[in-house]
Amino acid sequence: MKFNKQKSPQAEKEFGGTLGATCIPVFLPLTVLYLLCVCRSPVASVLQWPPVLPPTAQLWDPLAPVLILGWMALQSFFYLLPMGKLSEGMVLKDGSRLKYPINGFYALCSTAVLLTLSLWLGMPLGYLFELLLPLAVCAIGVSFLLSLYLYICSFWAPHHALAQGGNTGNPLYDFFMGRELNPRIGSFDLKYFCELRPGLIGWVVINFGMLMKEVELRDSASLAMILVNGFQLLYVADALWNEEAVLTTMDIVHDGFGFMLVFGDLAWVPFTYSLQAAFLVVHPQSLSPLGATICYICAGYYIFRKSNSQKNQFRRDPTHPSVANLETIATATGKRLLVSGWWGLVRHPNYLGDLLMALAWSLPCGFNHLLPYFYVVYFTVLLIHREARDERHCRAKYGLAWDSYCRRVPYRIFPYIY
Ligand code: NDP
Repeated sequence: MKFNKQKSPQAEKEFGGTLGATCIPVFLPLTVLYLLCVCRSPVASVLQWPPVLPPTAQLWDPLAPVLILGWMALQSFFYLLPMGKLSEGMVLKDGSRLKYPINGFYALCSTAVLLTLSLWLGMPLGYLFELLLPLAVCAIGVSFLLSLYLYICSFWAPHHALAQGGNTGNPLYDFFMGRELNPRIGSFDLKYFCELRPGLIGWVVINFGMLMKEVELRDSASLAMILVNGFQLLYVADALWNEEAVLTTMDIVHDGFGFMLVFGDLAWVPFTYSLQAAFLVVHPQSLSPLGATICYICAGYYIFRKSNSQKNQFRRDPTHPSVANLETIATATGKRLLVSGWWGLVRHPNYLGDLLMALAWSLPCGFNHLLPYFYVVYFTVLLIHREARDERHCRAKYGLAWDSYCRRVPYRIFPYIY
């Protein structure tokens, strides 16, 4: 295959352009380490001054790289097992469609079996709490190395395999955004694998480690810890059960695989999404059954699941009985847009459900600290930014039809608010 330095006709740069692409890879990894330190400090305040900094000895443990690489190898093994069906992705620029194994839920179940076995063998899973910082350092290191590998390999990919946004010719920006859309080693799809497996399953394993640490310290798991573990396990199990739906998301269809997604998948998700569980180890919270019920009611799982499934079903087969009666508008591309059902409520009902769930995960941590709400705040910013990006792409794709959709459905995420 020949060396490909060709650039795409460039749309406007995202994430603050070159400056953003230079600063984010420095700032976000430091944020992960900082939050992990704050979370285990007695005050647990993100605003405390001087900021909590870990002694260098706490950043490294020789066991950490072994665990991270072993974990990646184990999840790759599960990915390659001939279990589950093969599904086709969306049509690519050259008219072809890639095949993806839909076996993420089996990977989660197999991991659960291995965890049960390791508990039975007496492995100290609570030790994950002590290892959090070194594990995060290694996951960040792996993210940089993998992104570099992807950036270099992308120069051998054919032009039609490059992502629209990540090949501007500016190395820093392209490294960050990702040049190649679907990098693969043989049939092993690196982006699809990282998107839902090592990071997402790793997140619930870390949560479980925090629960075991709590059992070690206080002889039993608290209701707050059980709720946080339960909510987040439901979220991850749902994502893997509905793994096929990821094939129509922006990450897979539009974005290149570069540092932004690699770091998000392998370091940001497992180590910042598990902050609530880690927080509860050091700052136990008592939660009444009433409080637990309120948290449960806040979970927007139903909205999240129904809206994602509706759009996925509609994109895969618009004649399916569950979506065939919904009102739609035509676009010049031949694709139609839903204007009733969940997608007639707001333009991103799935984000609304996701944000409600984020709130429900934080409530069991009480109201005395801001840190457990970091996820809600960060996620709101992320989804508002993501919604704006998606809106730009859709307006470019669908033109006038998108404008009439916006007139029909004026709110973006929160009905009558935003
Ligand atoms: P969506 O699944 O919302 O996909 C957006 C695409 O859907 C658009 O580009 C368009 O693509 C299509 N679309 C938009 N409006 C309509 C309509 N009215 N009718 C039919 N199709 C429409 O995007 P995301 O990938 O951002 O999100 C997927 C899920 O992942 C969400 O639930 C989100 O909350 C979650 N998520 C979670 C994250 C986390 O860290 N936990 C991070 C990011 C996302 P086209 O027309 O080309 O099909």
